[in-house]
Order: sequence, then C-alpha cells, then structure tokens
Amino acid sequence: MPILQVKNLNVTYQTKNKQITAVNKVNFSINEQDSIGIVGESGSGKSTLAMAILRLLPNRIATVEGEVYLNGKDFLKLSDEELTKKRWKEIAVVFQKAMNALSPVHKIGSQMVDIFQIHDKQLSKKEIKNRMIDLLEMVNLPPRVYNLYPFELSGGMLQRVSIAISLMHNPKLLILDEATTALDVVTQGQILENIMELEKNFNTTRMMITHDMSVVASSCKKVVVMYGGHILESGLVKDVLKNPKHPYTKGLLESLPSFTGEKNNIRGIPGSLPDLSSPMKGCVFANRCEHVMDICREKLPSEVALPGEHKISCHLIGGELDD
Ligand code: ATP
Ligand code: SF4
Ligand code: MG
Repeated sequence: MPILQVKNLNVTYQTKNKQITAVNKVNFSINEQDSIGIVGESGSGKSTLAMAILRLLPNRIATVEGEVYLNGKDFLKLSDEELTKKRWKEIAVVFQKAMNALSPVHKIGSQMVDIFQIHDKQLSKKEIKNRMIDLLEMVNLPPRVYNLYPFELSGGMLQRVSIAISLMHNPKLLILDEATTALDVVTQGQILENIMELEKNFNTTRMMITHDMSVVASSCKKVVVMYGGHILESGLVKDVLKNPKHPYTKGLLESLPSFTGEKNNIRGIPGSLPDLSSPMKGCVFANRCEHVMDICREKLPSEVALPGEHKISCHLIGGELDD
C-alpha cells in the first residue's frame, strides 16, 4: 500500500476578485521508502500541493477538494484532534525558512523540548534532553547547540535544527519544501547526505520540493514534474531525467547546463505560466509549446502510462517526440 495517495486534488485560492486554481486534478502516490522529487518552475503549484496535503491551508484562503490518503486513511477527513496526533508522527514538513519559526528569545534546547512534549509527555526531562542532543548529533550538530540561542547559529545550522525537529517523532513521511535551497552548495550537499542516511535508518519516505534538478538526480528515486497546477510527467528519475518525453520537461532540462552538457547551448523556455484564474480547455503548456497542435488548445491531454512507471500527459505521446 502506498504511504501517500493523492486523488483528484484540486486547490483554488480565493482572492478579492478572482479564483486561482493552483493545483488541478492532481493524482500521484508515494510508496514506502521512496524518495520523490517535485519539480517545476516558480508558481507551478508545488508548495500549494504540499500545504494541501499537510492541511495547512485555511478554508478562508483556499478550497481543497479531492482525497489524500496517508497510510490508507483519508487525511483530509480527519478531525482536528486526529490531525494533531498524526502531524509530526506520521507526516512532518520543513520549509525553506523553517528557522524563522524558532523564537529568538529561547534557547534551541528548550524550544525542542517544548515541541517534543506536545506529542509525548511520557519521558523525564533528562531523557528528553538526551534524546534532543542525540537528534542534534544526527543532523551533525554538536551538543552545545542545545544551550545556544538561534542568533548564535548560522543559517545552515538553524536549518539543521529545523530538520532535527521534523524528525523528532520519526515521521513516516517527510516533506521538504525547498528546505536546503537558501544554503550554500556545500552545506546543502552535507544536509542532503545526512537526510538520506537518516532515511535509511528510520524508514522515512521523502517528498522533496526543489527547483534544483541536480538535487533530484542525486537524491531521489522518482520525480514528478508540475506546471500550472498539473502534473505533466512523472516516473523514475533514471527514466524521466535521462529520457524526458514531455516538451516541458525537455525544456526544463535543456535550460540546465549540467544536463545538456553544452554550456553554450542553454536556453530557457520562452513565455510564462498561463493565467490560472481563467478556465482552460486544453493543455496547460500550450501557449509555450513548440509542438502545439489544434487539439492541444481544445482538449486536456489525459495521462498515458509508458513502460516502467513513466507517465506523461501530452497529445504527442507515441508520436513524433519519441527518440
Ligand atoms: P515557487 O517555486 O516559487 O515556490 P510553487 O511551485 O511553490 O512556486 P505556489 O506557491 O504553490 O507555487 O503557487 C502556485 C500558484 O498559486 C501561483 O500562481 C501563486 O501566485 C498562487 N498562490 C500561492 N499562494 C497564494 C495565496 N495565498 N493566495 C492567492 N494565490 C496564491
Ligand atoms: Fe505541447 Fe500539445 Fe503536448 Fe501540450 S499536449 S505539451 S501543447 S504537444
Ligand atoms: Mg514553493
């Protein structure tokens, strides 16, 4: 059974004068111990997808429709009480500036203890402290961090603290939303290695939202490509990144030097995301696609399964795009 199953998920933001459909009938699932990368340019709905799964979008801001099964239970239907129990234990999240959530006037250790005790009141103070120091060590921070204030730590160290906090109750599913993006490349690499090691030891499943395709290539088993609220392509990293089928994925990869190998030949995809507040009949990528056909503007392409776990939504599939 998949650890996470998302079915027909739709998220619409209500602003003063328009409705923005940021996630549009999204379907995907994650198996236990999979690591899945969610990629796509800015505004494609990646964070909205994560927030909807986590139930962090208040009703007054967004309408969420569809089903989200966590370990077979419909997460969107849980009562607030059940939800509180499952957060941190079954599902946890780290955002890009997670460290901003820490209070500047309390020491790291006492904040960790407070968060820990929300869910577990069984252990003695001493036991909790030892546990927190172990956690800090797991993310490669020295025990002295326990007694420091947030301002005494670097951005990388604070992000490690946030990751330690997210792992406090051994969540089954860990969602990282650009959690290492703001850090320098070396720190990012170290934290990523750390997370991958922790995953092995704790059987955690990771859903990783990132702009950085090389992060996906080096740390994920599967990848989901999002654009304009739709999933356009998904599959094993080794299939999708080596042999992308969707014009958008191809464009995305061609705009990265490490994937084309030809630094002189980098080109972005001309154009920008469509207006998500007006209803669209056809393919969400149609106004930027160099292969666009009449049918693309008329009919939403349905998802087609290719060999392996590779899936793509494009009217060209099986046609001239095949290499
Ligand atoms: P990025 O890579 O920049 O983080 P993203 O893929 O995470 O982008 P989202 O933040 O999910 O994209 O945004 C998806 C769409 O929803 C965008 O058009 C965005 O402007 C819109 N959006 C996000 N938050 C809100 C909000 N609170 N109210 C209205 N629209 C919003
Ligand atoms: Fe391009 Fe048409 Fe495929 Fe959309 S469906 S990506 S417009 S070819
Ligand atoms: Mg985002």
